[in-house]
Amino acid sequence: MTVHFFDTVEEFNLWRSKNKKKSLGLIPTMGNLHKAHLTLLEQSLKDNQASVLTIFVNPKQFPEDDDFKKYPRTLANDIALATSLAEDMKATKKDIIIFAPEDTSEIYPKGFNENIESGKIGSILEGTFRKGHFNGMATVVYRLFKIFTPKRAYFGKKDYQQLHIIKNIVKDYSLKIKIVSMPVVRDESGLALSSRNQFLNKKQMLEALKLSQTIYETKYLLVHEGRELAQEFVSDVVQDNPAFNYLEIRAADSLLPITSKTKKMVILGNYQIESTRLLDNEEVKL
Ligand code: AMP
Repeated sequence: MTVHFFDTVEEFNLWRSKNKKKSLGLIPTMGNLHKAHLTLLEQSLKDNQASVLTIFVNPKQFPEDDDFKKYPRTLANDIALATSLAEDMKATKKDIIIFAPEDTSEIYPKGFNENIESGKIGSILEGTFRKGHFNGMATVVYRLFKIFTPKRAYFGKKDYQQLHIIKNIVKDYSLKIKIVSMPVVRDESGLALSSRNQFLNKKQMLEALKLSQTIYETKYLLVHEGRELAQEFVSDVVQDNPAFNYLEIRAADSLLPITSKTKKMVILGNYQIESTRLLDNEEVKL
């Protein structure tokens, strides 16, 4: 196993020119790695001869400047975590490339003027609260696809709406990249792992459980009592608890409202604790 650390595209291109035939997996992240990110890297290490884990806090996807500034940046620890995972896996002949550009111009070269539209799906749910977020995310992912031209790219289902938008980009631009989606990783209490959890104190961590617990209650109702009752429950929850920015049962393949015939669904929720927005979801098949 060889770990490379590159902070310029030129360094990557040089490596690639000497390793043209290696299958490449891409794992885009914003760093501050935790166990969930490592499940993506682990899968890529299994599937590919080389894996590029990118660490880039993308300014374009933060409509809120404060949120961008306070996003945790922990590069040394991230490198240590990725390296120790590779050692644990004994992925001896594999390459890990950690790509963490210091300069934004590595991703958006001077004069870069492109904006990838996230489309209709980018304007619902999270999109109604974070205007411009998904266009910024789509733009950076498209750039990363262009820079690295991976065979496969790995994303978590935790960001369910994001995953849909990325799959649309691949279709719209006829990219030859397989999108591998990985399950939501939770801690023992059920809280979905997130870099934002560290902004919560102990009391708030307990309050945060309301989100996953309510999603599980909704899932139970959907499976055992049917769509109507579950829908009523969801509307009541949102009305009674203003911390829910939304809680919705949607069709898993379109993210549109469900009908009496929808079989594959997803319960999506966002819960606000002070300035921290927590995101979670759970798929349900009836
Ligand atoms: P981020 O660094 O937050 O942009 O996340 C990078 C990737 O990790 C994205 O594909 C996320 O969906 C994924 N990810 C983050 N947290 C989780 C989680 N708890 N479970 C599964 N995937 C996750």
